[in-house]
Amino acid sequence: MSWLIIAEKDNTAKRIASILFRDVKTLKNGRVSYYYSPSNDAYVVGLKGHIVELDYPKELNNWKTPLEKLLQVEPVKKIKEKTITSILKEIAKNAERVTVATDYDREGELIGVEALEIVRSVNPEVKVDRVRYSSVTEKEIKAAFSNPVKVDFNLANAALARQKIDLIWGATLTRLISIHSGRVGKDFLSVGRVQTPTLRLIVDREIEIQNFRPEKYYEIFADFEGFAAKHPKKYTRKEEAENVFSKIGETAEVKEFTRKSFEENRPIPFNTTEFLREASKLMSPHRAMSIAETLYMNGYISYPRTDNTVYPATINLAEIVSALSAVFPKEAKIVLSQDKIVPSSGKRETKDHPPIYPTGIARRDELSKEEWTIYELVVRRFLATLAPKAVWEVRSAVLESNGVKFNASGRKLVDAGWRAIYIYSKAEENELPVLKKGDVLKILRKRLEEKETKPPGRYSASSLIKIMEKLNLGTKSTRHEIIQKLVSRRYIHGNPFRPTETAFSVINVLKENAETITLPDMTAKLEDEMDLIAEGKKRESEVVNESRKMLLQILKAIDYRKLSKDLREGVKKDNFVGKCPECGGELVVRKSRAGKRFVGCSKYPDCTFILPLPKKGSLYVTSKFCKEHGIKELKVRSEKGYWNLGCPYCNYLKWKEENS
Ligand SMILES: [Zn+2]
Ligand SMILES: [Zn+2]
Repeated sequence: MSWLIIAEKDNTAKRIASILFRDVKTLKNGRVSYYYSPSNDAYVVGLKGHIVELDYPKELNNWKTPLEKLLQVEPVKKIKEKTITSILKEIAKNAERVTVATDYDREGELIGVEALEIVRSVNPEVKVDRVRYSSVTEKEIKAAFSNPVKVDFNLANAALARQKIDLIWGATLTRLISIHSGRVGKDFLSVGRVQTPTLRLIVDREIEIQNFRPEKYYEIFADFEGFAAKHPKKYTRKEEAENVFSKIGETAEVKEFTRKSFEENRPIPFNTTEFLREASKLMSPHRAMSIAETLYMNGYISYPRTDNTVYPATINLAEIVSALSAVFPKEAKIVLSQDKIVPSSGKRETKDHPPIYPTGIARRDELSKEEWTIYELVVRRFLATLAPKAVWEVRSAVLESNGVKFNASGRKLVDAGWRAIYIYSKAEENELPVLKKGDVLKILRKRLEEKETKPPGRYSASSLIKIMEKLNLGTKSTRHEIIQKLVSRRYIHGNPFRPTETAFSVINVLKENAETITLPDMTAKLEDEMDLIAEGKKRESEVVNESRKMLLQILKAIDYRKLSKDLREGVKKDNFVGKCPECGGELVVRKSRAGKRFVGCSKYPDCTFILPLPKKGSLYVTSKFCKEHGIKELKVRSEKGYWNLGCPYCNYLKWKEENS
């Protein structure tokens, strides 16, 4: 009778097999590999995350199904990975023990339970246990397997409730919006519990920027030999500022001067959010997460999905630093030069996984360029959390000229400490010479500057992830995917992000009709309910049914005619390119029956003016007009990023000239 071990991914399965057994054979079924140890009669099978997916029964999966119907029908589990499922069944028939070794979190528990259900469908009597680990290293895997525990079905049910609620709300509202905007099929408009509130943040910020009226204010400066000083007050009335300005004399007296040494704290250990914020300075957060997962599966770093910012006492920090000396000698030396290594720590401490830290030593040539970038980031962050604090000298002065006060300050890095290791944040120094109380200094120049208040900035990937975390939107492992989804559904574009007209319409319509889905509160409530399910205090079905009722009430209250009109206007605006140069009609982005994009005239067939468009990539109509043709410039997003297409008419004329 054999032993079946189920891991979350193929990579992990392979490593677990090689750690536990000496005689590992790789078996294949189609394109799926799995691993077998003849001496132990043990199989290790890697899943592909969820091997089943929740969906509506086939007969309801079309744009014609009435929305209320989606609220009455129970979603079904569909097999997503057929080959893996058949491997599991084959082995399970003769298995006496199954060990679930998927990742240790809510989602991992559900992934394990899904596989377990398949196993039990052919072998209901099989013995089941669970192992929990945070890094795929020899030490931790062996420890986990010598201490198996029970599968936590409540934990898995909490994840299942979230899956169901997301499907029900997502499918229903996505259909509602897509059908009424006319964007069905491949180009549909999605709505979701996390993506929609995130989109609303971006839309609301854009509205704030549009409504922003800059206000003038005045500031007064004085330049001295080697430094500049600033009058502490801002003035909104020009006369008042001019009055103060005119009092300033030729010289100023130093009233106060202080020098202080200031110790700058080290950064906290990486949890997923912090990691993604830092990594997004180097590449898209989506890419960074997928690379971190590869590094984890190959044993280079610990599990990258974690909230924890406190290293557990069980990690031998000094040992890891010594090992890292091989690759980062200079940096490791800074850490090891201390009498005692005391790590920094953040506020969140959880017991499931440690913060992200290096678990293996990688050489630059073993990894791809991007993998190395992420590995180096994790290593440098880890070392920085153990390094000495950075020491600054901070100087500040108060000066006065005819009763007008000025402040000046300077900071200088005296001892770089962790800053010598963590090269991703620049130390900003500025100069202030040593002064003495009572010194009288010559004012080289005085300045009265007119300034304007600025609108709030647009969100970048990094600032968006930060606020999503603050509002509890999405999980550490899904935030980057959500942002990606908003981009690929053509709701937002650019960096920092701007919303399209369609995004404005969708958010407006939802605000009016189903505001719940645009607010983070729904997620907060769901999180609480999931905790209750995980603790066994509430049933999954109860939670899901309450949610259904809420959505049904929303659907009943909608004014469908108005909703349709509003949505179509937004979509139309996004496709409007400008006035037709031949007949004055409207030029819009169109699709031919064969699916080819082009710019056509609204007066077709009376006017046959037409401009070609590139076949690939998502197309954005920008708000910038071509000076010559009054046509809006276009932008295309491909996998490699954005490129400006410019005016499609100019492009076409140029192309014609070159090819004539
Ligand atoms: Zn025309
Ligand atoms: Zn042009």
